[in-house]
Amino acid sequence: MKAYDVVIIGAGPSGIITGVTAKKQNPDKSFLMIKEDEQGLVPCGIPYVFHDLDDISQNKMGPAPFVKAGGEVLVDRVTDIDISNKTLCTEAGTEISFSKLVFATGSSPILPTFIKGYHLENVELIPKNYNYIASLKDKILSSTNVVVIGGGFIGAEVAEQIAKHDFKKVTLVEIQDHCLGQAFSPDFAILADENLRKIGINVLTGNTVEELIGNNGKVQSVKLKSGEIIEADLVISAIGYKPNTDLAKKAEMQLTKHGTIRVDKFMQTDEDDVYAVGDCSQTFGFITGRTDNIMLASTATAEARILGYNLCKIGILRSFSGTLSVFSTELNGHAFASAGAIEQTAEAARVDYVTGSFTDMDRHPGSLPGAKKIRVRIIVSPRNGEIIGGEIYGGKSVGEMINIIALAIQKYVTVYELVSFQVGTHPLLTTAPTKYALIKACEDAISKIDCREK
Ligand SMILES: Cc1cc2nc3c(=O)[nH]c(=O)nc-3n(C[C@H](O)[C@H](O)[C@H](O)COP(=O)(O)OP(=O)(O)OC[C@H]3O[C@@H](n4cnc5c(N)ncnc54)[C@H](O)[C@@H]3O)c2cc1C
Repeated sequence: MKAYDVVIIGAGPSGIITGVTAKKQNPDKSFLMIKEDEQGLVPCGIPYVFHDLDDISQNKMGPAPFVKAGGEVLVDRVTDIDISNKTLCTEAGTEISFSKLVFATGSSPILPTFIKGYHLENVELIPKNYNYIASLKDKILSSTNVVVIGGGFIGAEVAEQIAKHDFKKVTLVEIQDHCLGQAFSPDFAILADENLRKIGINVLTGNTVEELIGNNGKVQSVKLKSGEIIEADLVISAIGYKPNTDLAKKAEMQLTKHGTIRVDKFMQTDEDDVYAVGDCSQTFGFITGRTDNIMLASTATAEARILGYNLCKIGILRSFSGTLSVFSTELNGHAFASAGAIEQTAEAARVDYVTGSFTDMDRHPGSLPGAKKIRVRIIVSPRNGEIIGGEIYGGKSVGEMINIIALAIQKYVTVYELVSFQVGTHPLLTTAPTKYALIKACEDAISKIDCREK
């Protein structure tokens, strides 16, 4: 039986980043990464395979940096683990022993088994699987009427990309009042609906799919709760992801109520020398400290870096401080980004807050070509002015501005501090130095805190 110091199961973003970081810290230790699929892909790039990228091969991702650092890779599926004896077995029958084990097994799409007809041909999912996505692209190209179920960021991005093809009728069905409704306040989320409609998508919010109706085993139409029937030769379900933890469960690892593997702030599980990172592992909210269920590459890779630096010995005393859910997307050329608390999550967690808002153009003067309206809202604790969340809508600069907000939240920066920060600006790249949108939003929050104090 071959023995390794460290075995990592999975080669998604969390497996690769854990592997390359930890191997560089521990060049003398032997590392093995086991991945079930020969070919990997950039998960966040999947929607763009359906239009903006010419070919799926432009969206490849693999553990090359890990191999370059001296790690070994085995393409196989881990089927059994004996935690107490520190051994595992693969589908091909290979037995391997390890000193340390990392679960980086990720997540898979939830099958809509509650919808009658979910098993029909041409009812598809968005798994992070190269061959599946390649054949789904072919199906998209040869279909006319596409229905996407779920208007979260994945469903919205996929619908947007499909709608860019001429002569395709795309319908997006979302149960909530607005698309992106989980990550944005209603007045931001409504802009997602508007942008999707502008590119011709039939956006049906506050509605659900009740039945998928077939003909000769193949989907033909979709029946909504409202009674409406929509023609469909392809249905794509994007209703969420579940952690891949069957293997961990079989090995009798402790799971949370969300089905993720229980971990501490250094990503160690309840078992010595066994760790979990990324979508398969427990997350807890930065603001609330409570266990939540966030599956984002921003969280997965931060966890992986922390584990990578601390796997063999505590190298940097930085534990995972909780997920900020920092994320951004672009629909119809308009960026949406959020981090930390938004109004509805703050209210649900009974967090006291005030908001600060500002709207301006993202170039100065705003008459410059390519200028877009930028809208910033920050969520602030009225007790000490700490920034606890934010959401932004606008042009491309939004994608990095949200990272300033994320850093501010993580470092407990207050609005009083942020107003004195020096920000680099340029007419072609940012809002004006005289009214940098984020700083103006802080000033708005300060005035509201002042009002409450009076
Ligand atoms: C379409 C789409 C778009 C997204 N866009 C964004 C975005 O813009 N921003 C963002 O922050 N997040 C985004 N995400 C979420 C992000 O992709 C995930 O959070 C990220 O992939 C998690 O990485 P991971 O390594 O934990 O898991 P995964 O990427 O799921 O990788 C896990 C790997 O483990 C392998 N594996 C599982 N079990 C075994 C086994 N028994 N043996 C061997 N191998 C195994 C799997 O095959 C898989 O390759 C998106 C997700 C999707 C699906």
